[in-house]
Amino acid sequence: MSVTLYWLRQDLRLADNAAIQAVLERGTGVVPVYILDPSATHPWAPGGASRWWLHESLRALDDSLRRRGSRLILRRGDPASVLRDLGAETGAEAVVWNRCYEPAAIARDTAIKADLTARGIDVKSTNAALLFEPWAIRTKSGGPFRVYTPFWRACRDAASRIDKPQPAPDVIAAPPRWPASDRLDDWGLLPTKPDWAGGLRASWTPGAVGAQERLIRFLDHRLGRYADDRNRPDLDGTSSLSPHLHWGEIGPRQVWQAVIARLAAGGLDRREDQAEVFLQELVWREFSYHLLYHFPHLPDRPLDARFATFPWQRDDALTKAWQTGRTGYPIVDAGMRQLWHTGWMHNRVRMVVASFLVKHLLQPWQQGAAWFWDTLVDADLASNSASWQWVAGCGADAAPYFRIFNPVLQGERFDPEGDYVRRWVPELAAVGAPHIHQPWRAPAAALADAGVRLGTTYPRPVVDHKAARERALGAFEAVKQAA
Ligand code: FAD
Repeated sequence: MSVTLYWLRQDLRLADNAAIQAVLERGTGVVPVYILDPSATHPWAPGGASRWWLHESLRALDDSLRRRGSRLILRRGDPASVLRDLGAETGAEAVVWNRCYEPAAIARDTAIKADLTARGIDVKSTNAALLFEPWAIRTKSGGPFRVYTPFWRACRDAASRIDKPQPAPDVIAAPPRWPASDRLDDWGLLPTKPDWAGGLRASWTPGAVGAQERLIRFLDHRLGRYADDRNRPDLDGTSSLSPHLHWGEIGPRQVWQAVIARLAAGGLDRREDQAEVFLQELVWREFSYHLLYHFPHLPDRPLDARFATFPWQRDDALTKAWQTGRTGYPIVDAGMRQLWHTGWMHNRVRMVVASFLVKHLLQPWQQGAAWFWDTLVDADLASNSASWQWVAGCGADAAPYFRIFNPVLQGERFDPEGDYVRRWVPELAAVGAPHIHQPWRAPAAALADAGVRLGTTYPRPVVDHKAARERALGAFEAVKQAA
């Protein structure tokens, strides 16, 4: 029996998987392989939280494969030489993979394809990560989009091209002989000294089964109110599918078609509007990939070149206060602690904390993006880079730099009772709603009753909002003048 290697990367599922369909069509035995590349460095190597997720997800994938008569082969090393070696060991006649779109991955895969093809091995790549390939959606003049709304309209108009997802196969043919595999536990992906992953374990079930459970829970309980609740970090109004989507444990086609099927089946009033807002968020993910593909310097350099000379005021102590959730602004601190504890943060709060770092503290957005890269379980080069640039005001279709979030007003608007802050900043648990988003304005007696001593049990604000706002606007003015 001939053999095909299936190289898995960010497509850790068996359903809706174009590469698996391609292998089934070949009718060969399959060797599924995941390769850990120890030479990959930031921002291409997974951060700490991602490594934890990857470990759990690979284990879940191996279970699913074994239930179908297959297994996951693990190898460590340079992917080009691992694939060459495995090809020789198994006598593989073909290699298939689902495409990745990060610039370094594209360069690597292009070189590997050329090398394998020259060795007489057939290479096929397919799409399992996106609704549309980044090059498939174009402006009328044929170029890439830089603005989201017309991009969304173009995607919506092309929605009939979104295929129905294929189910996972019942059986995946084994090769005549299994090649050797590393042991997952030997890869050292899990934190040990110290084991900081307790909060991650309590919050998530990595793998395709966990992803499907999240999707069903979202469709059953949250979709009908998504547009109303999605900005409320106190309400759990969003899907929490982002890490599953990043690792490809579920595909955007599966999510899109499941929403469309729910709509067709009828249901809650106004569900259509609510669902459209959710589909738009899925398309923000597509837009991020579109930008990364067409502007590969997105992770490093501002798309708006004027910002290349922005007068950042690097300050390690302020950055540390932000990272550890000790800025004295409760909504910012709650978000940063949610991130540290669970590996995830609500989108509204991501916008607030990112704006705070860049505008109130004048720290470079790349520094914030790097912290998110290390701590998010959904760390994704496209979405993270595009979102940071958007918040910093230097991206495509960016929020204007002079729109500076007021962290107190954001807290009062989107966490009106303060429940989100109380959950993540227990020092403030006994502070009442009127003062919870600005404890420094609370009467001394109210603070004493709540057991809060500012500067001792909870920090005073590291910067004054009004002064910080003016300083940020001044810095922006300097950039504009220089341009
Ligand atoms: P839902 O509201 O349920 O949305 C469904 C899906 O749509 C998400 O799972 C996600 O895949 C996609 N999506 C939603 N909003 C966005 C968005 N603004 N941009 C791109 N895709 C979106 N998302 C990541 O997946 N990885 C990141 O590294 C990342 N970094 C971010 C950094 C900053 C500074 C900001 C402001 C946003 C970032 N986001 C990132 C986008 C967004 O915050 C998350 O996708 C969202 O919070 C995930 O929660 P959810 O799955 O419940 O989203």
